[in-house]
Amino acid sequence: MRLKNMFILLTFVACWVFYAPQALAGVEVYVTGKSVSFDVPPVVDTSSNRTLVPFRHIFEALGAEVWFDSRANAAFGKKGDLTIELPMNQKVAYKNNEQIQLDVATQAVNGRTMVPLRFISESLGCQVDAHNTTDGLRVDIAWLEPSQPEETLSNERTLSEINISTSDTELVIELTVKDGLNKVFTLRSPDRLVLDLQNTTNRAAEEVNLDHPLVSAIRTGQLNNETTRVVLDLKSVVSYHFEKNNDSLLIKVADELSATADVTITDEPAGRPAQPMLVADEQLIILDAGHGGRDIGATGVSGKYEKDLVLAITNQLKATLEDEGYKVILTRSDDTYVSLDERVAIADRTNAFAFVSVHANSTANAAIQGLEVFKYYDSDSRLAQHVLEGILERTGQNNRKVKEAGFYVIKNTLMPAILIETGFISNSQEEAFLWDPKNQTDIVEGIVAGIMAYQGR
Ligand SMILES: [Zn+2]
Repeated sequence: MRLKNMFILLTFVACWVFYAPQALAGVEVYVTGKSVSFDVPPVVDTSSNRTLVPFRHIFEALGAEVWFDSRANAAFGKKGDLTIELPMNQKVAYKNNEQIQLDVATQAVNGRTMVPLRFISESLGCQVDAHNTTDGLRVDIAWLEPSQPEETLSNERTLSEINISTSDTELVIELTVKDGLNKVFTLRSPDRLVLDLQNTTNRAAEEVNLDHPLVSAIRTGQLNNETTRVVLDLKSVVSYHFEKNNDSLLIKVADELSATADVTITDEPAGRPAQPMLVADEQLIILDAGHGGRDIGATGVSGKYEKDLVLAITNQLKATLEDEGYKVILTRSDDTYVSLDERVAIADRTNAFAFVSVHANSTANAAIQGLEVFKYYDSDSRLAQHVLEGILERTGQNNRKVKEAGFYVIKNTLMPAILIETGFISNSQEEAFLWDPKNQTDIVEGIVAGIMAYQGR
């Protein structure tokens, strides 16, 4: 009897969380113990009485990368092997390739993608606990997998402090962290400047809210055991540069219009560099077989390596393009290690019209198959789209579409650049498909047809 009462009580609590229509003023959400602040508060869908929460805030708090693809009209979140796709205004979501039915459609509220709270608990393997406090409702979200406690991280660097100074036209953010490897990129929808500090443990404030016309907040978090992520939420178009010191890193953010030209950029270029004033050679193309040498890439179900598969495809692609009259430069033609910097340098020494990187995909879910073609954020999608369609017409693979990412080689090369994930070698069927010479020929011919269509040939 007591058990039954307990059950009814639990059911009541659960229903109250998911159906409560007016209780939202006092909703506080905590992710892995830390309060999440929303610029758009949780809402209730009145027709279904479901609570919807902003996808980006919760996913970023869970350590995921979040972006919005306007072409697909969908929000994406990626953490490790897990990719979530949320098409707008639809009652479906995709967890990797698995379709998940939502009982209420995703919706945009003030530019934020809102998802049912229930989706997070039921579909993402997160633990969601809700209980009443004197201030209202408290929702706690945590990954079920135990994350490594901060104290046990053994990184060389620590981000210990964030200091802000402002002038009329410039905001200077000083990160107290030793000099080291950093990756910088921007994300759109909404605009963010992201800095991943490699080999760094985060001990700085999780969120600093600013009253500044250019940046609304600075957020930090432990992206994974090795990486501390610093995100600047941007309010307007900015220019930025970095100054590296032994014990600090300065991020200087200025209004794009008032940016001064005499500032030295001392870090890697943030974002894709401007197009040089070069006339592209419409015959010359750079092919980049991923990985090589000690970098084996992903390992397929059979034990064969990505580096060998993509080299075979790329070498055949070179021959076929040359048959069509193209001049081809390879970043590697055999099983040698070539750094990402060197790949970019090889491309940027030329005025090639395009850069095509060939890879194969891998994920923890062995059921996933399909073709993806990546382009850099907000770059022209035509080359990627034509190549995707060219391959699919011949192979009939599962269409995982054109996607955006900040991969080093497509971010830093000066010419239009794509990265083809030819298929999943973590799926035994697709791995066998990809190693079959007949299918490799189809893929190669599809890429060539896509390139030619892109050039209007
Ligand atoms: Zn790869």
